[in-house]
Amino acid sequence: MPVSPSKTTKKTVSAEAKLAKLGLHTDMDLVLHLPMRYEDETQVITIEEARLHGGDTSQVEGVVTKNEIAYKPRRQLLVHISDGTGDLQLRFMNFYGSQVKQLAEGTRVRVRGELKHGFFGAEMVHPAYKVVNEGAPLPTSLTPVYPAGEGLSQPVLRRAIGEAMKRVDWTDTIPADVRRQLQLSDLEPAVKLLHYPPQQVDEHALADRSHPAWTRVKFDELLAQQLSLKRAQRARRAKGSPALTKVGALSRNLEAALPFKLTGAQKRVLAEISADLRQPYPMQRLLQGDVGSGKTVVSALAAAQAIDSGYQAALMAPTEILAEQHFRKIAAWMEPLGVKVAWLTGSLKKKEKQAAYDMIESGEARLVVGTHALLQDVVTFENLGLSIVDEQHRFGVGQRLTLRNKGVEGAVPHQLMMSATPIPRTLAMTYYADLEVSVIDELPPGRSPIVTRAIDQNRRDEVIERVHAAALEGRQIYWVCPLIEESEALQLQTATETHALLAEALPDLNVGLVHGRMKPAEKQVVMDAFSANEMQVLVATTVIEVGVDVPNASLMVIEHAERFGLSQLHQLRGRVGRGSAASVCLLLYQSPLGHVAKQRLMTMRETTDGFEIARRDLEIRGPGEFLGARQSGQAMLRFADLETDGWLVDQARDVAHDLLHANTPEKAATVEAHLARWLGGREEFLKV
Ligand code: ADP
Ligand code: MG
Repeated sequence: MPVSPSKTTKKTVSAEAKLAKLGLHTDMDLVLHLPMRYEDETQVITIEEARLHGGDTSQVEGVVTKNEIAYKPRRQLLVHISDGTGDLQLRFMNFYGSQVKQLAEGTRVRVRGELKHGFFGAEMVHPAYKVVNEGAPLPTSLTPVYPAGEGLSQPVLRRAIGEAMKRVDWTDTIPADVRRQLQLSDLEPAVKLLHYPPQQVDEHALADRSHPAWTRVKFDELLAQQLSLKRAQRARRAKGSPALTKVGALSRNLEAALPFKLTGAQKRVLAEISADLRQPYPMQRLLQGDVGSGKTVVSALAAAQAIDSGYQAALMAPTEILAEQHFRKIAAWMEPLGVKVAWLTGSLKKKEKQAAYDMIESGEARLVVGTHALLQDVVTFENLGLSIVDEQHRFGVGQRLTLRNKGVEGAVPHQLMMSATPIPRTLAMTYYADLEVSVIDELPPGRSPIVTRAIDQNRRDEVIERVHAAALEGRQIYWVCPLIEESEALQLQTATETHALLAEALPDLNVGLVHGRMKPAEKQVVMDAFSANEMQVLVATTVIEVGVDVPNASLMVIEHAERFGLSQLHQLRGRVGRGSAASVCLLLYQSPLGHVAKQRLMTMRETTDGFEIARRDLEIRGPGEFLGARQSGQAMLRFADLETDGWLVDQARDVAHDLLHANTPEKAATVEAHLARWLGGREEFLKV
């Protein structure tokens, strides 16, 4: 159909805008917009065969014998086609006037859809169709289906990609010797195969992305990521930071004043951190250690080095309960040694806040502990040398960056991040390639292992008995309420009811309640009473999940444990087993258990090792959920899958290393070309 020139221009502009929305700006962007799946339109079967097949999607061809708009029960277009072997009804609930005309009687159409046997015989609802001439050739390759955006149809995408393929520069950015050595396909044939797979292609390999053509594309993508991360690391090292070289009186006195000796693992990670802090470029180190491994004291000693060297330090935690606990503990350690510690959270009164801001800005406070409130613009430091982020995975990338920008002009503070959620190696190598990692792999001595049992919910009465007996022995108990993801109100109600029920069943004990809707001051009253052992049983929602530290608590009951994820269960369980008393964790579950829930509870019974739990979690859930979606290494990757393509990550890292260290102009040009091709403007994003 001829169209007027003005119309053509308008159409092109809007299609371009829609493509841009998908991030498709250049020809190469289009060429690398690879199909998410394929449709087989290479075969037509008869209507009779399709009727016998049923269920599956099939393609038939026939001539329209009837075309009517029916109004029962609602307006719809009914089109009948026939191919001599049988009749088929096509039903369209939403349609345009143009479609009614297009599907006029006598028109030959090729129709693709799922055939169902309805009341009026065989029918397809909303099939894909194409008007064809008799004998029109069938496609010889599978039809690609592309990830599309709003208002962008597959034919428009296909055409745009097809045209880009003709124009694009196919120069291979992987050096020939590397391709040969790693047995990688060449780029052009690999990409062409993925867009237009020939009929005889191994469809399974194509679908599960194990085909060599996919391997090539994934390798390129991973290489771009590794190159970019390694360059970000160089860029970071080019920035200036205060060299915190003095391990002086405060560090020594603090360590001497501790009521315990550091474990070997704590000493080792502290030495790693201490060496980084001496450097005149920013540290970016992740301190990993299982729950209860003693990360807090390590961070306090790192802060002491900053303070000894004449700089301020800040410690940020994701919840008020946790931040306040850190504040109390650290202030109790530091203030007797003459160090002023400031406390900052959103719930402070206006005057208190202002006082904190002033102390931080004047430098009177050498250490600041707080929540997200530390990130506000009004918070300015005299000379921030070290920022510490506890439970770092709870914060967004942007938030960590904000803290990094609070240093003195031109000097980036060192950053120490802490997490009890172990990150599997492949993830650490991708997203965290620009991060040094220290691991505390030893628990403080004298901890007795936690025994974990799974118990059917209908034995709740026995469990309450057990709680009673434990309390009479002087032990303290956490009772964790079920997680109700759908409704916070319902979760609150359940917590309140559980509390009432336990208070009634245990009249001789003091049973407290803490949940997320309480005001910080109210929470604190309860936590204080529990810490001081004036309260024997604490009914809690998941607010106690992170960091809470009451060593005398040695029994934990988790209700509806089947609703929690593995890492959450591990974090919760980490609240007990902190003292020398043998600790017990009872996982109450509602039967029957699903497969995944069963696996999770079994894992919890079998191990208390956070790394092992993380490994199994990865098996059960896949890597996407390990980190916030936007932070995850996987989120940067469109094609490679960290679970199945770990081996390619290793290869890509080695090649990236070689390319960057070769120091020849050709290699440098290769790096640039590869990054430009794969990341274009997205490199900024990877840097954070
Ligand atoms: P996490 O690594 O989970 O943040 P914490 O820093 O809260 O762990 O430490 C858990 C508990 O262990 C705290 O009560 C802490 O005082 C204690 N602790 C830390 N290090 C040691 C040690 N070397 N010896 C004995 N107890 C320790
Ligand atoms: Mg902690």
